[in-house]
Amino acid sequence: MEKHLLSKSTFIRGSQCLKSLYLHKKRPFLRDPLSAEQRAKFSRGHDVGFLARQLFPGGIDMKPKAPSQYQKAVEKTSEYIISEKNGIIYEATFQFNRVLIMLDVLEIKDGKLYAYEVKSSKAISQTYLLDAALQYYVMSNAGFKPLDFEIIYIDQNYVRKGELALDKLFIFKPVLEEILGKQHYVSSQIEKEKETLLLKHSPKIDIGEHCIHPYPCDFTGHCWKHLPDISVFDLHFLSFEERMQLYTAGKANLADLSKEDLKTAESIEKLKSILEQSFYLDCAHIKKKIAKINPDRGFLHILLRRPAIPEFENTQPYQAIPFGIAYAFESDGEKKAVAELFEAQDDPFVSLTDHLKLLNDLKKDFIIFKQPGINEIIAHILKTQQPGKDISAFRYYDISDFIRDFHFFRPGLKTDTGLEKIARFILKDKISAKITSEIEAASLLNKLSVANRAIIAEYQQENLRILENFFDFLRKKCNIV
Ligand code: SF4
Repeated sequence: MEKHLLSKSTFIRGSQCLKSLYLHKKRPFLRDPLSAEQRAKFSRGHDVGFLARQLFPGGIDMKPKAPSQYQKAVEKTSEYIISEKNGIIYEATFQFNRVLIMLDVLEIKDGKLYAYEVKSSKAISQTYLLDAALQYYVMSNAGFKPLDFEIIYIDQNYVRKGELALDKLFIFKPVLEEILGKQHYVSSQIEKEKETLLLKHSPKIDIGEHCIHPYPCDFTGHCWKHLPDISVFDLHFLSFEERMQLYTAGKANLADLSKEDLKTAESIEKLKSILEQSFYLDCAHIKKKIAKINPDRGFLHILLRRPAIPEFENTQPYQAIPFGIAYAFESDGEKKAVAELFEAQDDPFVSLTDHLKLLNDLKKDFIIFKQPGINEIIAHILKTQQPGKDISAFRYYDISDFIRDFHFFRPGLKTDTGLEKIARFILKDKISAKITSEIEAASLLNKLSVANRAIIAEYQQENLRILENFFDFLRKKCNIV
């Protein structure tokens, strides 16, 4: 059997952008480094897939141990299906038309085949349907047409009570009808992708929406490098579509933009400010918000993760789970700073509630930066309130909306900027080299080794320091006493 040219992931990559497929196969060294967060996502998907196998106990694992074993796995899979009237195969491997796929679970019942693909997400996307359509195409044409095809994904409404109830955690969604409708597309797209791989040079495809959707492409460092350091794509107060239109009209440089290009007076003012002083600051808004915050204040950072599989009683899939806290405030002229990482085996809401109760009773306001899960966490604590631990008076203010809503803007800062970028771009601060997204990813997975715990403790302190400095920076810039 000839070695395959395409797999499920390369096919999906090619559907998003043929140039991405070409670069991935022929120029992989041009790829951007994989972020730790992406690595964590892959690992999470793997963990969920493994857990879902328990819904189909006693199966045989056909997963090839190495790429050189792929075609062998195809043979073994077909031999097993032909010889067994009943059985379960994990990673059933098929090949047709030089496309190789591995199906998460294949069930053989009375000689009939049922296909299952497991996804670690809370919903079925168009990409998942396309992915299933490709699997169906390969299986059917290889002579193993499944009678049904179901995508198994996570029910976000599941609430853990005691042991995990897998039959309640996972949803089975039959998708045969949808994927049958995609067979023609799959077949013609495979041909296009195979032709692309025969080219001597990468196809001429300009940058665009496809660089971001459905997945952020990992060749943007290569394809977007022709843009000036500060380009129209830095103008996040314009929609992506608007920025794209300006780029297509040959106006990637901010200096090439005219008033007519920007539709609102506010956008024109922002651009003027950026061109003249390289940043934009809406002090009127910032002053108004800061005036609401009690001058007797502190700074807070809660470490959160969102496990796909609920680990604690009364929690749901992907719910925000705290795993550490850091805060700093002044009391009687003395600075107090606390940083704690919770023990993985204990219910972290118990420890967090103790800390928040203390902050609640201080009657200070706490400043946070971009903690999208904090409302969820507080709501969970209030709902499952421990006796004598009322934190309903606890007040906090998120100042990341200054950036998110363009009240403060500086090229290089995106609307979802984290504190690390603030440190680098605004405060010209050198943050510890160890404090990278690696750490966030490690925490995402709750793999807190002793070394990681030490680094994360440092990370928490750094976060608070940057937050405090950023707050002071805004006050100074806007003359807020
Ligand atoms: S960055 Fe955009 S144009 Fe370049 S390969 Fe990726 S998707 Fe294609």
